[in-house]
Amino acid sequence: MDTVKQLFKTIGSGVLYFFKYKKHLYIPPLFFLILAGIIIGAAVFVYNTFIKAEAEQVDMSFEETAGAYDFSGTTIVLDPGHGGKDPGATSATGVTESEVVFNIANTLRNRLEESGAEVILTREKNEFVTLDARGIEGDLFISLHSDAMEDPSITGFTTYYTYANQEAFSQSINESLDEYSYFHNRGNNQYNFQVIWQLDYPAVLIELGYLSNAFDDHTLTDESYQDRMVTAILEGISNYLN
Ligand SMILES: [Zn+2]
Repeated sequence: MDTVKQLFKTIGSGVLYFFKYKKHLYIPPLFFLILAGIIIGAAVFVYNTFIKAEAEQVDMSFEETAGAYDFSGTTIVLDPGHGGKDPGATSATGVTESEVVFNIANTLRNRLEESGAEVILTREKNEFVTLDARGIEGDLFISLHSDAMEDPSITGFTTYYTYANQEAFSQSINESLDEYSYFHNRGNNQYNFQVIWQLDYPAVLIELGYLSNAFDDHTLTDESYQDRMVTAILEGISNYLN
């Protein structure tokens, strides 16, 4: 027993000696350990309070927009211009008008279907469809274009309707584009484009911008701007229906 006691005493005094006279060995690492603890703690606090909270908020606002519209009972015909042997205008980077407007139409289709609408696309892929074949019945018709102009300085978006019963819908789309587009508003104009004059229900032809203009081209071929245009059109439909 005495040897055990002696052993503990030796160890005890050794530990005591260490803490009392070897402070230079453990104080600096301890200091850094505590400092690291404080920094990690602060980082976790900042992440939880600001970054994570904001991410949750973004998720929430996405869910809110997902259920923000109710288009059930409405058949919407989306007409991505051109396609197949007719690519439409070509961007400086080689992207074609038919691709730009198809991307927008495809995303718009998903958002509309999430909102309960029935959606018909005049073309389902990069294929040639005649103007006659685009005359599909529905409640609302949206033709999407981003053509080229002879004059490369021309920039802006334009909406077109043919008949008086198409004007209010076209105007509503024009107003929401005015809110979301980065381009100048060239107005809501009456014009006899075949895809809209062959229909007798509310229809609009949208020139989202002109790929012949460097700024419009750069902006329209950007995916986040295309999503922005989807939101603008959704807003325009919603404002018109309500
Ligand atoms: Zn076009």
